[in-house]
Amino acid sequence: MDVDLPPEDDPRRVETRRWFDEHRAPSARELVDAGFVVPHWPRPYGLDADPALQLIIEGEMRRAGVSKPMNPIGIGHCGPIIVALGNDEQKQRYLLPMLAGEELWCQLFSEPGAGSDLANLGTRAERDGDVYRVNGQKIWTSLADHAEFGILIARTRNDVSKHRGISYFIIAMDLPGVEVRPIRNMTGESGFNEVFFDDVRVPAENLIGEENLGWGMAKSTLANERVSLSTGGGLQWGYGPSARDLVTHFRDNGGLDDRVVRQEVVRAYIEGEILRYHRMRMISAAVNKKPGPDASLRKALADPHGKKVFTLAKNLMGAGGMLTINGALDSAWDRGFLFSPALTVGGGTSEVLRNIIAERLLGLPHDLDVEQGKTWSETRRGTSAPA
Ligand SMILES: Cc1cc2nc3c(=O)[nH]c(=O)nc-3n(C[C@H](O)[C@H](O)[C@H](O)COP(=O)(O)OP(=O)(O)OC[C@H]3O[C@@H](n4cnc5c(N)ncnc54)[C@H](O)[C@@H]3O)c2cc1C
Repeated sequence: MDVDLPPEDDPRRVETRRWFDEHRAPSARELVDAGFVVPHWPRPYGLDADPALQLIIEGEMRRAGVSKPMNPIGIGHCGPIIVALGNDEQKQRYLLPMLAGEELWCQLFSEPGAGSDLANLGTRAERDGDVYRVNGQKIWTSLADHAEFGILIARTRNDVSKHRGISYFIIAMDLPGVEVRPIRNMTGESGFNEVFFDDVRVPAENLIGEENLGWGMAKSTLANERVSLSTGGGLQWGYGPSARDLVTHFRDNGGLDDRVVRQEVVRAYIEGEILRYHRMRMISAAVNKKPGPDASLRKALADPHGKKVFTLAKNLMGAGGMLTINGALDSAWDRGFLFSPALTVGGGTSEVLRNIIAERLLGLPHDLDVEQGKTWSETRRGTSAPA
């Protein structure tokens, strides 16, 4: 991909800059109406933007000091599925409030027995007239305690192989029978939750696409998630500080005397730069609507990099790094360090990403046991999967 940014006098840049000059503090709805929240989506939600226009809009938005509405799971993971496969009513009802950040979304996929092997899920949705009755449990659901809506995958058929018979729903999180229990993580915050469904009546019109054909959509959602977790420049799934920030910190504070530590910091910087260029390629793939193994490659490299840089920063704090004031985390580095073990788990573990890279980028053979319908852990235990 050509990473040269369109020049200052590019007509599309001039026009975008003029828009931000005329809208000094745009509301979320104004940004949505202008197509600036998801420029690469089709109209009326986006602008069908090519990579260059998307980079122009990102750049001009940054220059104007304007931020996009926050709805990472809605906009990053679920929205593209609704755009591609939702019906007109679903698009009309959900997409604009989602883009404006007025209705927050979560992703109800993982279960206690179904993480990497997601198709093993046991939550059931049984058709009963105009509704599906949903029973089961999800876990690690980020933002479920704040979300208005979720994307839910549940089993609608049991008599077929596990990848078939899964359906994909939109679910309102305030329906009777939905119980959300926050789980506190090491940072002291509860970023994710357990979610229980006790005979929850989900309107049949909330099914996306065809019944039993949800697995393909689930895989696309996971691919979107990997793109979304890889597109920002920060160490923490795109957010937070970067290796460049670490270097800047030491440069501005008199440098580093220790030669060994200097080597480590430079190594971290080089990795960060390689990942920055790879990110440009990813943006190109994303705007060309081809989220795929490339995002897995970047995530497999970026997550261990994030862990390494947060640990390096913590080590460099010396004894002071062990202190927090009144139990509060005082910097993005402290918080990032405590969150960093999750980086190589959420959104696909590093091992699973390496499997995807092996099979889909390198053309290595599929894991035979998976093809035969066994899960990885069943393979290790030497047992076979249920039908
Ligand atoms: C911060 C965070 C936020 C999350 N948010 C959400 C969310 O919003 N919604 C949601 O649905 N889920 C969410 N998750 C869950 C996440 O998707 C799962 O944790 C992840 O898919 C791994 O599943 P698991 O935890 O069940 O581990 P397992 O799948 O049980 O894996 C255990 C270990 O076995 C290894 N392993 C498994 N299969 C293979 C294989 N085939 N080959 C080699 N090794 C293998 C794994 O790499 C791992 O080391 C979140 C997780 C985290 C950490």
